[in-house]
Amino acid sequence: MSYVVCEPCRDCKYTDCVVVCPCECFYEDERMLYIDPDHCVDCDACRPECPVEAIFQEMEVPSKWTEFIALNAERVDAIKASHGPITEKREPLPRSPLARG
Ligand code: SF4
Ligand code: SF4
Repeated sequence: MSYVVCEPCRDCKYTDCVVVCPCECFYEDERMLYIDPDHCVDCDACRPECPVEAIFQEMEVPSKWTEFIALNAERVDAIKASHGPITEKREPLPRSPLARG
């Protein structure tokens, strides 16, 4: 079992989530973040930190976003080949709604 990053994370990368993870589970590409299902310990620390409610426990992923369960695992495997986990908070992407104002 694992936590899963879903659609609302696209273009956000506000990254409040990564600093609370005790297991360095988060990986990023140019669009969003993903959780490594092999290292997530289901601690729930990241979920309430996400300002756009993009993170769900695997069993609670809304049906419209179930493809993100496999996508997180696939993207983490691909990203791991060249990059380590993201563990420090970053500024949001310029196009993120959270970056405005
Ligand atoms: S805080 Fe939420 S939206 Fe922002 S990077 Fe983390 S999971 Fe994505
Ligand atoms: S549930 Fe815990 S271990 Fe899993 S990604 Fe979130 S903070 Fe990390």
